[in-house]
Amino acid sequence: MKKIRDGVYTNDYAIFFMTEEILKDLDEGVLQQAKNASQIPNVEFLGYTPDAHIGKGTSIGTIIVWDMSKAWISPTIVGVDIGCGMRLILTDKFADDIDKALLKRIMDEVEDLIPTGVGKKNKKIALSKAKYEEYLQNTEIDKDISDKMVLIHEFDLDTIPDEAYEIGKEQFATLGGGNHFIEFQKLHVIDKIIAEKWGLFDGQFVVMIHSGSRRFGAVIGDYYQKKFKDVMKSKGITTPDPQLTFLPIDNKVAKDYIKAMQSAAIYAKINRHYMSNFIISVLEKHSIDAWVLYDVAHNIAYMERFANREKLVIRKGATRALPPNHYLIPNPKFADTGHPVILPGSMGSSSYLMRGIQDNIISYHTVNHGAGRVLSRTKAKKTISIDEFSKALKQGQDGEILINTKNLKDFLDESPQSYKDIELVINSVITSRLATPVAKMEPLGVIKG
Ligand code: 5GP
Ligand code: MN
Ligand code: MN
Repeated sequence: MKKIRDGVYTNDYAIFFMTEEILKDLDEGVLQQAKNASQIPNVEFLGYTPDAHIGKGTSIGTIIVWDMSKAWISPTIVGVDIGCGMRLILTDKFADDIDKALLKRIMDEVEDLIPTGVGKKNKKIALSKAKYEEYLQNTEIDKDISDKMVLIHEFDLDTIPDEAYEIGKEQFATLGGGNHFIEFQKLHVIDKIIAEKWGLFDGQFVVMIHSGSRRFGAVIGDYYQKKFKDVMKSKGITTPDPQLTFLPIDNKVAKDYIKAMQSAAIYAKINRHYMSNFIISVLEKHSIDAWVLYDVAHNIAYMERFANREKLVIRKGATRALPPNHYLIPNPKFADTGHPVILPGSMGSSSYLMRGIQDNIISYHTVNHGAGRVLSRTKAKKTISIDEFSKALKQGQDGEILINTKNLKDFLDESPQSYKDIELVINSVITSRLATPVAKMEPLGVIKG
């Protein structure tokens, strides 16, 4: 590995945005997956964020870029939970004014409105066919408070497999499985000037949501993964890993995938939109004023302009972190600050609110989307005891962290011990100059998926 600057290293295949401390523990499998991804034709840039870890066919924490004129697209790299992302709700209250009993009540009331776990539907959202179809093509929803999407192709709902279309209609406002969460937090300001501009204050009660496109995106991902395999085979396109598929964007199946992916990304955003509305309605019932600060996706392909050229950028388990004055910043409030980046740690550790900075042009304005796993799900389930898990949840600054009705033994793989140390990861982000911290949040209560 050759050092480019502090926190930025390169080998023959990719750039690694991580301190030596993180790099030394980087899984060999990520290096292999980097080598594999670098073999997709015409790749202009391939990078890995400090939370990088092995994924199916490609690593979580991948940034891959092509010039639009010769771009390829990969459903494997976008990932199955298309448009998965984070949303942060702010309130007008101090966390210390919400006692444990009230927090428990709020959490219960939120859970009554938002089903958690795999395969759930939400009967409270009954959409007409027309409304549903309008939604799947609507780039205007929450447009002031979320990533701006420049359409690569016009929408076409015929590209959505029937199974996705059918199930998707009933899964809005559902959290999903294990790694998805609604977390109630206490915010500590780090950057006072930015905090004031964004409406943050020390001790603030805030809520973080992590969820994606549910079965809708998953079916689309699987469906096109298979279709890509078939087309690659028929065209004699070889891949270093059968799980890693890719096609040039002018291919018909690739075009269809991009159209369906765009709808799935919007699906995920609308899912978070409904959930934040439900959460805000519960908070208002308890005289807590609440509003959304921002919403960022982390499994998605976007078209973005760099040095007057349109590029295709896929961020897989990685987040856009636009610097001040970037043309895609959706709201004047963030014009001279860069947009907010929501960077969770784990259910037992801090999370961070960051902002993009000019220096991160080197990562194509990208930062990691979390701490990243240090133990695979299987390994975590085998090695972590319920006792250790429960201890980790009691070490929060404000005493015990409340959790929803789940049994700890059912999600040992979500224990704080399964994730990298967020402080190491944030230190790495700062050293690599990808983003800069605005606030730090401590968990008070977590509704796990
Ligand atoms: P992913 O999208 O890859 O499943 O997860 C994103 C990140 O969320 C993980 O890398 C981890 O750092 C973080 N995370 C997972 N579960 C929780 C949780 O319950 N609370 C918080 N604050 N962060 C979490
Ligand atoms: Mn997800
Ligand atoms: Mn996610």
